[in-house]
Amino acid sequence: MKKVVKFGGSSLASAEQFQKVGAIIHADEDRKFVVPSAPGKRFDEDTKVTDMLYACYALAEKDHDFTKEINRIEERYQQIIDGLELDLDLSSEFDRIIDNFKKKAGSDYAASRGEYLNGIIMANYLGYEFIDPAEALRFNEAGIFDAELTNKLLIKRLEGVERAVIPGFYGAMGDGRVKTFSRGGSDITGSIVAKAIQADVYENWTDVSGFLIADPRIIKDPKGIDIITYGELRELSYMGAGVLHEDAIFPVRKEGIPINIRNTNKPEDEGTWIVGNTCQKAKYTITGIAGKKGFASINIEKDMMNAEVGFGRKVLQVFEDYNISFEHMPSGIDTLSVMVHQSEFVDKEQKILSGINRAVNPDHVDIQSDLALIAVVGRCMKSQRGTAGRIFAALSHASVNVRMIDQGSSEQNIIIGVVNEDFETAIKAIYDIFVETRI
Ligand code: ADP
Ligand code: ASP
Ligand code: MG
Repeated sequence: MKKVVKFGGSSLASAEQFQKVGAIIHADEDRKFVVPSAPGKRFDEDTKVTDMLYACYALAEKDHDFTKEINRIEERYQQIIDGLELDLDLSSEFDRIIDNFKKKAGSDYAASRGEYLNGIIMANYLGYEFIDPAEALRFNEAGIFDAELTNKLLIKRLEGVERAVIPGFYGAMGDGRVKTFSRGGSDITGSIVAKAIQADVYENWTDVSGFLIADPRIIKDPKGIDIITYGELRELSYMGAGVLHEDAIFPVRKEGIPINIRNTNKPEDEGTWIVGNTCQKAKYTITGIAGKKGFASINIEKDMMNAEVGFGRKVLQVFEDYNISFEHMPSGIDTLSVMVHQSEFVDKEQKILSGINRAVNPDHVDIQSDLALIAVVGRCMKSQRGTAGRIFAALSHASVNVRMIDQGSSEQNIIIGVVNEDFETAIKAIYDIFVETRI
């Protein structure tokens, strides 16, 4: 058996955490490929090394002095090295990093050093080979990840390698420039490595005992999810369940490699299994709830819209012209709404409105801002009657006004739009009705 084990930032924030990780790896022969993140927070008010690196590079970019800031980062690593009593000196690495910062190597390069340095420490600590992902993880000139080429290069690079540490979060473009995934992207690296070595399992170790039905920052002690499908997980993580990066399932999904989310601080817990398919029923009608704030809805009205062929395409073309992707597009006979991320839309708002006016000459357009979207997800929902009814009864009971409803064609999710202020209340009401009261 071969397992890829990815450890998140909080699992590697200090020497004590490294020791827990070491014990986990040594407890199972099969844990052969290790993907570390950069050191995360040691306590609530602490700063992640990745954030420290971004801040430090912002100074370098403006030609400001960053000595104090880079020294603080070096201290964080030195504490880990000292705590583990390793014979390792990172000073030449730091000299090179400082030099590259001065040469303006880019913020992606800067951020990637968090994982790179942690990888060097981890490889030294475990006695595993260190592999720099810049050698094998490829992004094209547009900065888009090249999955096919990466898989080829990685298979070649890993040929004959028994055990290795491969830092998460970054790779490089063809010309050698370092490129990172979006935040939380070490989860994707773990999945890419799992595919390349055809792992039996991809273990993703974090600070919670698996995927929980709802965000623990909103629901106190939410129940855990034992087993969840890739599809359900993708919906939940896209909608804000932060445990696993929303793109992390793609490399393993086709290969049918299961992901097991585990807790570094409670290795005895079984955690959550993420699988292609399962005949196991979820414990509750729903598998999970997640959501995000900060959406705007552009509501367009025009008499006889239904008879106008190409109306929707013309509206969407305006959004495409301004490089804005839409989240949802609920429609009525004479109305159509386009939901977008408010932060992307706000600066282009007036241009888009006049574009819509020119394109379809509507009777009326209005914008609703500060909306939140909540996804209620579950593979068992389609075989249960009355699920939507229960959601809306619970929301009405909690005095939450529903602004938008959308059900995906897979019937495994119902998306609800509410105002930002009702976000937490709505999630609590839905959690209560399905999990606490189970009526
Ligand atoms: P790591 O540093 O290990 O990658 P993350 O911070 O990215 O960890 O993800 C774990 C965190 O995700 C948890 O500490 C928790 O606060 C948050 N979280 C949000 N939604 C959920 C959920 N549905 N289940 C579990 N954790 C969640
Ligand atoms: N260190 C990176 C971040 O903070 C990547 C990761 O942790 O997955 O986003
Ligand atoms: Mg993460």
